[in-house]
Amino acid sequence: MMKNDTTALRKLPSVDEVMRSPAGADAIDRFGRTAVVGAVRAVLGETRAARMALSPDQTIADALSRLEMSAQPNLRPVFNLTGTVLHTNLGRALIAEEAIEAAVTAMRSAVALEFDLESGKRGERDDHLRGLLCELTGAEDATVVNNNASAVLIVLNTLALGRDAIVSRGELIEIGGAFRMPDIMARAGAKLVEVGTTNRTHPKDYAGAITDGTGLVLKVHTSNYRIDGFTKEVPARELAAIARARNVAMVNDLGSGTLADLTRFGLAHEPTVAEAIADGADLVTFSGDKLLGGPQAGFIVGRRDLLAQINKNPMKRALRVDKMRLAILEATLKLYRDPDRLVQRLPTLRLLVRPAKDIEALGRRILAPVSSALGSSYAAEVVACASQIGSGALPVETIASAGLAIRPKAGRHEGHALAALTAALRTLPVPIIGRIEEQALLLDLRCLEDESAFLASLSKLDLAGAKDARA
Ligand SMILES: *Cc1c(COP(=O)(O)O)cnc(C)c1O
Repeated sequence: MMKNDTTALRKLPSVDEVMRSPAGADAIDRFGRTAVVGAVRAVLGETRAARMALSPDQTIADALSRLEMSAQPNLRPVFNLTGTVLHTNLGRALIAEEAIEAAVTAMRSAVALEFDLESGKRGERDDHLRGLLCELTGAEDATVVNNNASAVLIVLNTLALGRDAIVSRGELIEIGGAFRMPDIMARAGAKLVEVGTTNRTHPKDYAGAITDGTGLVLKVHTSNYRIDGFTKEVPARELAAIARARNVAMVNDLGSGTLADLTRFGLAHEPTVAEAIADGADLVTFSGDKLLGGPQAGFIVGRRDLLAQINKNPMKRALRVDKMRLAILEATLKLYRDPDRLVQRLPTLRLLVRPAKDIEALGRRILAPVSSALGSSYAAEVVACASQIGSGALPVETIASAGLAIRPKAGRHEGHALAALTAALRTLPVPIIGRIEEQALLLDLRCLEDESAFLASLSKLDLAGAKDARA
């Protein structure tokens, strides 16, 4: 035993020896001396612990593959073939090229972020978007914060700190990731006053709850569920009138919201921000990276006097957005001035309106190369399927789409084989993420635009693991 150990130890090179080799010099060139020394030490340490031998060449090769692995970005691009266009866990909206360029310019350069070029005096961060947002929504005033959760938080904290916030029991939503309306209210310092029942809320429920201690009446878009059957809700316009009669602010949290009338593009109707303003809301809150198709952000638009109060809230500073996001938002919002070309320019909309027959044609084009990459253990076919918008817009409606359904060929461990396949697809240079449906892996092709990049990534598929799992 002892004897073997010392023999093995003698077969380990020194760190210096490895670093002086030609491959070591190349590695230092690429990753820097500190990182290479660290990786070489780690390789030698593990080899010693395993009582194995290693040549200098093997050591540097091992160290290099570790360095290459950790040099890969953690935030990896993936193919979103889940069928959910605005997938929160996959980063929601893709940004328009015009907006990407605007962000790059803003990143490279100093910008007049809070500097008025006309007067040479201090300017306001909100000035860059205020005009655009008012133009697109019909609101008097507007501001932007970190995301819509922040928008709701600061609105509640400004208008209902220590006061009542009235909301229907049918609208006490939970959005994924711990955004629960009652919890946000508590953190904002507002007292939640629930009115109505889960399925039915009447005008008199709201009217009866308004007192001198009411800070606001809140309407919340039920983004990710729908209550069907014996139901009643008070329309925004009616609720605004009830609140106005009692001199209380009515806030409409639209969640996704949209700046464009989606029916114009053949999609189902989702309330627009302009409609919510026209219906009399004093404030409307909505997201930047849902249907709007921009970066993460939250907008608050509405009455000037209320926005002045919000802007004075110290939370505003904690929730503000940086120059990059402002640049992306400005360029994205400007695209809405030309609705005729919005579909071509705004990726979110382009993907949402892609006709099922085009997607099906894409499926037929790639079926053969995909089948051959999958090998003989799996069978793929083109199928009709249903996409959804995601991120809490039109939760119940789906959009006709097409995709590839992949099933393991006859075998008893179909579940294992599918799990092995999805795992192998996640290890690709650009991982492919689909969804499991009817014992098949379904790749909804709605969001696949770069066919050749997809096939190039898929060609690296190694199903060795999948075969193991089937055994
Ligand atoms: C999505 C959503 C939010 C949260 O918006 P984020 O931009 O994700 O912070 C709040 N309210 C409603 C109704 C939503 O749909």
